[in-house]
Amino acid sequence: MAPHKTTPDYDSDDAMQDVESMQVDSVSAKERTVKDDLEHMFDDDLDDEPMVDASNAHKNSSGKVNITAISDIPSANPSDPEDMLQFYSRLFPWRQLFRWLNHSELPSTDFAHREFAFTLHNDAYLRYQCYPTFETLRRDVLNLNPSRFEIGPVYSTKPRDRKQAKGSFKPIEKELVFDIDLTDYDEIRTCCSKTKICIKCWQFVTMAIKVIDVALRDDFGFQHIMWVYSGRRGAHAWVCDKKARKLDDGKRRAIAAYFEVVKGSSQSGKKVNLERPLHPHIRRSHDILKDDFKQNILENQDPFRTEKQAERLLQLLPDRQLKEALREKWDSTIERPSSDKWKDIDALAGSGVSKASYVS
Ligand SMILES: [Zn+2]
Repeated sequence: MAPHKTTPDYDSDDAMQDVESMQVDSVSAKERTVKDDLEHMFDDDLDDEPMVDASNAHKNSSGKVNITAISDIPSANPSDPEDMLQFYSRLFPWRQLFRWLNHSELPSTDFAHREFAFTLHNDAYLRYQCYPTFETLRRDVLNLNPSRFEIGPVYSTKPRDRKQAKGSFKPIEKELVFDIDLTDYDEIRTCCSKTKICIKCWQFVTMAIKVIDVALRDDFGFQHIMWVYSGRRGAHAWVCDKKARKLDDGKRRAIAAYFEVVKGSSQSGKKVNLERPLHPHIRRSHDILKDDFKQNILENQDPFRTEKQAERLLQLLPDRQLKEALREKWDSTIERPSSDKWKDIDALAGSGVSKASYVS
C-alpha cells in the first residue's frame, strides 16, 4: 500500500454535524478497508514519510475521550483563522496531548523528540518542529495559528537538530495507526458519495471499529487503543502500546494485511475471496456484524434494490442454476428490497435449486 496522508482536521460540511459528538469508546461494526498510515515510517526518504493528523480529542470529566471539532461550536468556522486561534487557545487539550505522547508526567524524549508539522493558512507546510513541553508547543501553535497540525514519529534526536545528527537521525517509534475513511465505501454505500456523509453511512465506520478493535485486542494483545474522529469522513485508531510503537515497517504491513478482506481494483468483480474454513478472525467478525448487516446494510443501505444493483450481486454467485432462479424471481418483482433478496438466496439455495450452500 502506498503511504497514506490523512485528510485535514476540520470540515465545514454540514453533513458532519451528525457524527461529531461521537465518543471514542462507543465502538460499534464491519471491516473493509484499513490503511496503515505509518507504513514506510522507517523508509530512508524521510521527506516522504506520512504524518498523522493531530488529535482533535480531549478527555471530559468522566475520563472519556470526546471528539472536539471546531464545528461543534455554534457559529465557529474551521477555515476562519480567528476561530481556530480561539479553539487552540481555549479548547485544545494541550496537557492531555503531552501526557498521552510523553508516557509520563516528567518531560522526556518521548515528547521532546517527537515531530510536529504545521499547515499554515497560506498553505505553507512546516515539518520537523519539536518541543520539550506542551507549553512550548502551545505557544508556537498560538503564534503560527496553523489550519492543522500533525503528529509524526519520535526520532533518535530532536527533529530540529537533524542536520547536525546527519546519518544517525532516524525515526525510532510511532503509534500504529489505522485509518477508516468513508470514501473507501463509495461502491457499497447508497446514501452518500465522495465527501458527503450521514448517520446511515457512518455505520460503516462503526462496524469497522467494532471488528478491528476486538482483533487488535484479542489477536494482537494491544491494550492502549484510542479511536478518534478523523475530522472529516472517518475515524483513526491509534494503537499506543509500546510494542506497537516499536514495530518496524514489515510488521506494520503484516498487521495491515491481517485485516485485508477486500482486494482488487474498482474494475474487478469479486473482491472478497475467503478460504473455507474461515479464519477465526473472519468468523468472529462475521458473527459480530450479523445484526449490523441486516439492519445497517440490507435495510438502511438497501444496496441490491435496483435491477442493476441486483445484477452485481448475482454476478458474485458462482452457481448458475441458483443465479437463474433468483433472476427469474427478481424480474417479476420490481425493486424488491435487498433484505428480501438476501432471504431469497438463502431460501432458494436451501430448497435444492443448487447443490452448493450459501447459507452461512
Ligand atoms: Zn450517507
